[in-house]
Amino acid sequence: MKIAVIGTGYVGLVSGVCFSELGNEVVCVDKIAAKIERLNGGEVPIYEPGLQSMIASNKEAGRLRFATDLNASVKWSDIVIIAVGTPSLPNGQANLGYVEEAAREIGNAMNGYKIIVTKSTVPVGTNEKIANIIANHTEKPFDVASVPEFLREGTAIQDTLHPDRIVIGTDSPKARERLVELHKSLTPDIIVTDIRSAEMIKYASNAFLATKISFINEIANICEKVGADVTKVASGMGYDKRIGSSFLKAGIGYGGSCFPKDTQALVQIAGQMDYDFKLLKSVIEVNRDQRLNVVRKLESLLDGLAGTTIGVWGLAFKPDTDDVRESPALEIIAALERRGAQVKAYDPIAGDNFREIYGSNTVIYCDNAKEAAWQSDALCILTEWQEFLQIPLTDIEGWLKLPYLIDGRNIYDEGQVANTNLVYYSVGRPGMN
Ligand code: NAD
Repeated sequence: MKIAVIGTGYVGLVSGVCFSELGNEVVCVDKIAAKIERLNGGEVPIYEPGLQSMIASNKEAGRLRFATDLNASVKWSDIVIIAVGTPSLPNGQANLGYVEEAAREIGNAMNGYKIIVTKSTVPVGTNEKIANIIANHTEKPFDVASVPEFLREGTAIQDTLHPDRIVIGTDSPKARERLVELHKSLTPDIIVTDIRSAEMIKYASNAFLATKISFINEIANICEKVGADVTKVASGMGYDKRIGSSFLKAGIGYGGSCFPKDTQALVQIAGQMDYDFKLLKSVIEVNRDQRLNVVRKLESLLDGLAGTTIGVWGLAFKPDTDDVRESPALEIIAALERRGAQVKAYDPIAGDNFREIYGSNTVIYCDNAKEAAWQSDALCILTEWQEFLQIPLTDIEGWLKLPYLIDGRNIYDEGQVANTNLVYYSVGRPGMN
């Protein structure tokens, strides 16, 4: 099939490349010319393991290209995938400006029947709006479908080629048939629904996962008070198939470009229908507060933070990505600085993105992990990069001025910590503190 993907970000680029890997002809379109130039020059504007070589082989095979010309790309295609951003507005609602603009441009470019697929995460009812916008700009026939995306950054290629399920929301038998055909080699679990249910599946899924994280973080906080170990509690819970073991890792809470914005958006979607989504509001509040536990711990250990130097390892919202949108590190570092600490930060990949978004030049960005820990009064681990686990704890002990290690992601186990003189704090494991 001939596919045009509008928006060459984490979702659009990975989806487009994976569709070409499956043998389709794909053009990935972005309005940022510099991004397309880099892609045409063999560079990949995002960090995603395995992506660069897959782009190269599919370009070589003539199935994949990159363009800024949306009009020509839409005209050439049978299927158009909208994968533009839907960031939060200040009130938490999803900003549909990019989606609506893409719909207008698609409408203007229509030259025959096409299926317009929305992969961007959009509130219930948006695909109907998209259909209206397109219909206002063309007389040509088309169908719309909601095919929400569930990939995770860092494992995006694996998730796209081997998804747990594909959800296809459409009212058109023709679109359903073509889209099932497009996805059927990926998984036997293709769920076909009406459009509104498909839109809701995405928000409900992210809200549920966020709920699991906030739940285990609250259990961790209680564990600290009652002397239980949250990793053992989570493991014991996870064997129950009704609960499952994933997303029960206590830490400093969720971040990234999806969970924070999608939970906020679902609260807004419910609110617009006069429904007060109390549970999800609490999930968001717990997550916000959880991040600051690190700061509170440091404050009490160091008797205030004014004049201290704090090393920070990890700026990305999770390992194996350069994405720092809504990363807990943004808020934690800001709170440390507000209290008078000098922050020395290191991330294997996300340093430049963090510097750009954080927008202050008071943080010292380090070239390696040792530099950030060197002569610091404490070290905080905020992202569980593999690289950090390779560093012996005895080395960290030698580099620090004071022996305080705050592990926001519970990356070390009891045995490793017992062999050192570090004063170690993790989340929900009071026996190790
Ligand atoms: P992103 O911000 O990384 O990329 C969006 C891209 O769209 C940008 O490069 C932007 O320049 C481009 N764009 C915007 N308007 C355009 C237009 N009119 N024409 C051409 N290009 C245009 O976004 P993302 O992280 O890939 O997310 C995209 C959508 O997918 C969002 O709705 C998000 O919620 C959803 N999603 C994201 C993830 C994830 O892990 N990032 C996972 C699942 C779903």
